[in-house]
Amino acid sequence: MAKQNLLLLPGDGIGTEIMVEVEKLIAHLNSTGQTDFDYDSGLVGGCAYDAHGAAISDADMEKALAADAVIFGAVGGPKWDDVPYEARPEAGLLRLRKDLGLFANLRPAICYPALADASSLKKEIVEGLDILIVRELTGGVYFGEPKEIIDLGDGQKRAIDTQVYDTYEIDRIARVAFELARTRDNRVSSAEKRNVMKSGVLWHEVVTQIHAADYADVKLDHILADNCAMQLVRNPNQFDVIVTDNLFGDILSDAAAMLTGSLGMLPSASLGAQDATTGKRKAMYEPVHGSAPDIAGQGMANPIAMIASFAMALRYSFEMIELADKVEAAIAAVLDDGLRTGDIMQAGGKKVTTAEMGDAIIAKL
Ligand code: NAD
Repeated sequence: MAKQNLLLLPGDGIGTEIMVEVEKLIAHLNSTGQTDFDYDSGLVGGCAYDAHGAAISDADMEKALAADAVIFGAVGGPKWDDVPYEARPEAGLLRLRKDLGLFANLRPAICYPALADASSLKKEIVEGLDILIVRELTGGVYFGEPKEIIDLGDGQKRAIDTQVYDTYEIDRIARVAFELARTRDNRVSSAEKRNVMKSGVLWHEVVTQIHAADYADVKLDHILADNCAMQLVRNPNQFDVIVTDNLFGDILSDAAAMLTGSLGMLPSASLGAQDATTGKRKAMYEPVHGSAPDIAGQGMANPIAMIASFAMALRYSFEMIELADKVEAAIAAVLDDGLRTGDIMQAGGKKVTTAEMGDAIIAKL
């Protein structure tokens, strides 16, 4: 088995606590011969600012570029509220996304049976939920120019954001969605607003063309993004893979996330373009939540989002599908046993610490 290189970037706050559980998991998998991971660590966020005066150093950025996958914890906290804007903790995350060219953000929303009662929706609506939102991450209205506030001189100002998409940006994210659908239930819903936005017209056109040319075996639906939001809370189980732009993806993935309960349960992956020679993609895996300063350092953080993010790395960067399934099954099993960190605590649950939850998942493996 060839060595696989990981870079672990725990970051700040609970990031460091939940990353310990991933290190324990890697040690277990390596020692039982299931993997042969080599890993290095680096600093990102506030801790990197304290050490280097930047949210990520060039040396750690080099390590990230060389790694087969980056495993990221969380950054930020009140300690760094007043650092210069370009050195704020989130700048480390944004630089990683930019320099690694991570244009595809994958956010699964899976409802673990033991947590179906914790959803804000009725149990029968979320039970068995397993959807994947594929969000375009590097284009659209968050990056389009012009982006400015102009003083109109008559006591009025004008704010401008520009929604812009080129064919190649839609093409590559659509391909990621179709490829992923083939590994799941083989269905893609493409969400845009072609009724009122030119970018939606082009999005619809490009997705339709790529589907016809290369992915006709995948079932494709087009859905207006506002209807998609409604359908997500009405009948989320109708979806398999949803592909959408940066803005709609931001909103739809947060809505889908809450169907499943706590922030502490939600993993994500961000993928870049396929290398022409190796076929590998640059990739970063991270929980959706932040550094949770309110509970940091107390052993209260739920490590499941972090461990499930690592499972996504096994699945998407290393094609260790069976092992990823096993880790996800181990998470489901500890939840079935009633083990709960504070954020997902329910009547009758057994309250555990971050380390106890991590140990229990490894024991199930
Ligand atoms: P947050 O996600 O850190 O916390 C929101 C709430 O959820 C808190 O009550 C927290 O205790 C709880 N929570 C989050 N993750 C949890 C876990 N794994 N287990 C148990 N409870 C958990 O969001 P916030 O409070 O808005 O932000 C805190 C800091 O994190 C800020 O500095 C913010 O900028 C940063 N942040 C970073 C990221 C990132 O690194 N990707 C994302 C969001 C926010």
